[in-house]
Amino acid sequence: MEKNDIYIIHGTNYKEMTLRLLTEAGLADQIGDRGKRVALKPNVLGTMRPEEGATTHPELVCGAIEYLQAHGFRNLSIMESSWVGERTSRSFAALGYDRISEQYGVPLIDLQKDEGVSCDAKGMKLTVCRKALEADFLINMPVVKGHCQTVVTCALKNNKGLIPNAEKRRFHTLGLHKPIAHLSAAVRNDFILADNICGDLDFEEGGNPVPMNRIWAARDPVLCDALVCDCLGISVDEVSYIRIAEKLGTGCADTSKANLIFLNESADWEFTPITGSRNSAPLPRRVQKLAGYTDPKDACSACYGSLIHALNRLSEAGKLRAGLPPVCIGQGFQGRSGEIGIGKCTSCFAKSLHGCPPKAIDIVKFLEENWTQAPDKEIKNS
Ligand code: SF4
Repeated sequence: MEKNDIYIIHGTNYKEMTLRLLTEAGLADQIGDRGKRVALKPNVLGTMRPEEGATTHPELVCGAIEYLQAHGFRNLSIMESSWVGERTSRSFAALGYDRISEQYGVPLIDLQKDEGVSCDAKGMKLTVCRKALEADFLINMPVVKGHCQTVVTCALKNNKGLIPNAEKRRFHTLGLHKPIAHLSAAVRNDFILADNICGDLDFEEGGNPVPMNRIWAARDPVLCDALVCDCLGISVDEVSYIRIAEKLGTGCADTSKANLIFLNESADWEFTPITGSRNSAPLPRRVQKLAGYTDPKDACSACYGSLIHALNRLSEAGKLRAGLPPVCIGQGFQGRSGEIGIGKCTSCFAKSLHGCPPKAIDIVKFLEENWTQAPDKEIKNS
């Protein structure tokens, strides 16, 4: 796997998807020596369930462990330090990590109980947990989601779970962006297994999950986070820590240089448009409100989720209003004509954005330029 490769898989059997993704990405060869200490770092910031859009789905952790053990790696651990105000042990227990640890014989490391080590992170003194520094290979397992302070959160910010609580508090006094970027120079950035299953629209703690049903594998955390921006409809320039990390030499923030490798054909993709998650839970009110501007017919979740994120951006910019024609999306529109649509399935429409699925950032631009009220509606609304 090259540094600019990003492997992407869609579906709803998350453990099987993880196994396939890691196999295709050749993770075992990247780690090398079977005796290495391999640490898994999921996002277990609190007790919030993955279905709420906050924490890493444990199936990804199970899949990664099964893959690694099948390839002869025995020196594994799961490490995390939950956010300030929550005990990691409580989060681990609430999300079933105690059972995973017992089932696979992989220890849980509560980094809130670890000691901090002072490091020079490219000109910034930072304190990092000792056990995180002692790992020979770190598999970062963040959730792709929005964040109320840093706009997005994924690989780079997930590293904040590798520092002591006192240092997390200090990060906030330093404005988050600069220390998060410098932290990337102090910790390992070996491999990223990103949970893009149903991350939140814009809050770290979840509550407005948007089903996407995807998992990514990447090696470059900066490129990974830049792709998150594209997928959430946000300009990379809005997320300072990505640009700072790029300047520090952690990675590349130019997604045009990313080599995206899709592991399934669109025809295999799952249809989970309105009811969203695999347990058919109704979408939260805010997501439903955005969905009110759409007309989905058999839309793949990644396509529909991208549209929801794009609509959220337009909503924040005050560009959603009554009278706009519904945006059509989904395989049910193949070969049909219509006013405005998203994705190659709507290519026969008067206005259609190509892509399969298109990125949210492109959907935002397309809708800004093409989504207008019908003249009679404009008169009625004025
Ligand atoms: S355009 Fe969208 S709905 Fe159509 S096949 Fe591609 S991802 Fe699925």
